[in-house]
Amino acid sequence: MSRFEGKTALVTGAARGIGQAIALKLASDGADLALCDLKAEWLDETRQKVEALGRKAFCYSVDVSQAADVSRVVDQIQADAGSIDILVNNAGITKDGLLLRMSEEDWDAVLNVNLKGTFLFTKAVSRIMAKQRSGAMVNIASVIGLMGNAGQCNYAASKAGVIALTKSVAKELAKRNVRANAVAPGFIQTKMTDALPENIQQEMMKNIPMARFGKPEDVANVVAFLASDEAAYVTGQVLSICGGMVTA
Ligand code: NAP
Repeated sequence: MSRFEGKTALVTGAARGIGQAIALKLASDGADLALCDLKAEWLDETRQKVEALGRKAFCYSVDVSQAADVSRVVDQIQADAGSIDILVNNAGITKDGLLLRMSEEDWDAVLNVNLKGTFLFTKAVSRIMAKQRSGAMVNIASVIGLMGNAGQCNYAASKAGVIALTKSVAKELAKRNVRANAVAPGFIQTKMTDALPENIQQEMMKNIPMARFGKPEDVANVVAFLASDEAAYVTGQVLSICGGMVTA
């Protein structure tokens, strides 16, 4: 029997990149998927790939930063799928700029999607998981949330916030057998990082002891482990997936 047989996993930002890789890994390990992104039609490719693995895929349009949207979609997922056993808060954006040039709009946009979005989904799904007395949440943070980075104060603050949120939620929900962990990816090749200029990419490579950028599948494998019963005694932790860039 596959390790997620009979379970439903909710993944936000599942249309592409790391979110799509996570959805496919969980499906290949037996989970049915509730796929969320800004527009449900962007999820067609992920849905087709999940179905090709023999699993169900339900698709939802949702802006993770909008409380009413999130609560409506979580209710709908519970009605469609029957339960939510795994939550992966993956949707995230960057709007980079040096502190002195950073607009209030860019600060708010990044905090609203990355941190508030994670809070809203965590809150809505925690009610369901606490009631069923089981569940695993995995939040996608970043090594930038551990180290900071010039030009990314909004992103770094949002991901540090995700880490603190994860640790607090883990403590609140542990007695209900609901676990919450975070992963902190380093440089993973996706549309988000493809946008960086070649010289910045080469500069970043110098700080990676394994001398290669990560693949979305490198993140997906660790997320699947943390979501599984193999990690049954692991909660409130942050695991870096960064080729050795951060070792603390
Ligand atoms: P990506 O390719 O840009 O994918 C992110 C997905 O989230 C996109 O489909 C995006 O839709 C969706 N999204 C954005 N805002 C949303 C919102 N308000 N509501 C719902 N969905 C929304 O990014 P990625 O590289 O796969 O990153 C995934 C996660 O990993 C993010 O949290 C990111 O911060 C984190 N991460 C990435 C790296 C890396 O090196 N790539 C490193 C560390 C952490 P759109 O098409 O509209 O943008």
